Amino acid sequence: MTPSASSVGARLSTAEIIAVGTELLTPFRTDTNSLFLTARLNELGIVVRRKSIVGDEAADLGPAVRDALGRADLLVVCGGLGPTDDDLTRETVADVLGRTLTEDPAIVEHLRARFAARGWTMPENNRRQASVPDGAVVLDNPRGTAPGLWLETGDRVVVLLPGPPRELEPMFTALIHTRLSSRAAPERLYRRVLRVTGRGESHVDEMTQPVYARWRQAEPPVATTVLASPGLVELHLSTRAASEEAAQAVLDAATGELAAVLGHHLVSTDGRSLSEVVGALLRRDGFRVAIGESCTGGLVTARLVDIPGSSSYVETGVIAYSNEVKRTVLGVDPVLLETDGAVSEAVAVAMAEGARRLGATDIGVGVTGVAGPGGGSEQKPVGTVCVGVVGPGSEQEARTAQCPGDRAMIRRLATQTALDLLRRVLLSRTRERATVRGD
Ligand code: AMP
Ligand code: MG
Repeated sequence: MTPSASSVGARLSTAEIIAVGTELLTPFRTDTNSLFLTARLNELGIVVRRKSIVGDEAADLGPAVRDALGRADLLVVCGGLGPTDDDLTRETVADVLGRTLTEDPAIVEHLRARFAARGWTMPENNRRQASVPDGAVVLDNPRGTAPGLWLETGDRVVVLLPGPPRELEPMFTALIHTRLSSRAAPERLYRRVLRVTGRGESHVDEMTQPVYARWRQAEPPVATTVLASPGLVELHLSTRAASEEAAQAVLDAATGELAAVLGHHLVSTDGRSLSEVVGALLRRDGFRVAIGESCTGGLVTARLVDIPGSSSYVETGVIAYSNEVKRTVLGVDPVLLETDGAVSEAVAVAMAEGARRLGATDIGVGVTGVAGPGGGSEQKPVGTVCVGVVGPGSEQEARTAQCPGDRAMIRRLATQTALDLLRRVLLSRTRERATVRGD
């Protein structure tokens, strides 16, 4: 290899990741390294085109390495660099690249010293970790015995890293500074996440598709992915650009158009969660909130107090699971419980009112529902959830949602419905204030 080829090298713009380990093909261990690696590679503008998981079998790993090198500029292989017989990555990759392995005495010495520092003698099988394929650069592993390896073959790069995340992560971060960033293309990948509530995935897609389809043709193009989770839809926008300003300008413009079609269904464009947005609105208005919860058993309050600084707006949360506590602690009218039933908008509002009275707050929130699997009726099937918000003055809002899924999902969706109603009540005040000011 000529010095100029190794010091400059071709640009790396695509990558593949192979996670090696038979345990990763069982239900007991998950490959998380590839998530970390993908995030770091994306920051460098390198797109991950494919990931694979292979067991500790040379017959599986060899072809996987060969195929990946036929497609990607950069291949990261993690795992299988240990000292035992089932650790085959070093030997298999050397074989595929046609390199011989030579023991590096400096690594053997380093390993011996590592063991000696703990008062141990190095087991002989650790010497395997000192085998280095011809032309490889040895990558130091300060947290473990398996060094990493950097190999170049033509314009392509292969990086071998140990499997334990606490070893792989600092090694890869060091690698970015020392070797990868100068080999990455000048373009970087920039993302924007839009969070949306109150509409399902297909509805959100229908609303936004005409906008994002146009941006897909823009220069630089903006790619959009729609991702749904219970009670929340996310639009992930991404663009590749050589300058941060160019990327942010195009993402700002696309986000602005999407925000216009999404209206108040849009929760955030800056990565904030629903509870963070609600917290910011409460803080903006200087309001304190009290929550009365039945089927959610404290989850709404828990999500609000997940946010640091929530003590400035959360006063109290009351778990009023039984009708008895709804009556005695929250002061819900027994007649209401009898006539409308415990799961009703009237009771949700009465619970919100009771919590507000108890906490002497500006705003009260109430949640009640049928989480199942028992307790449903024809009129109020499992998944019926009623939420109420009262305040800051005499305002009252209530909403009924039919939530799908099992008990855990229904309770999760109930918290989402309650927080979203609270958000919309607080937002409508923004609109009113704007109208008064004539904005
Ligand atoms: P190895 O380098 O194959 O000896 O990996 C040792 C340990 O690292 C395994 O037992 C796993 O617990 C962990 N590990 C290996 N590969 C991964 C991966 N892709 N994601 C997360 N953990 C991993
Ligand atoms: Mg392994």
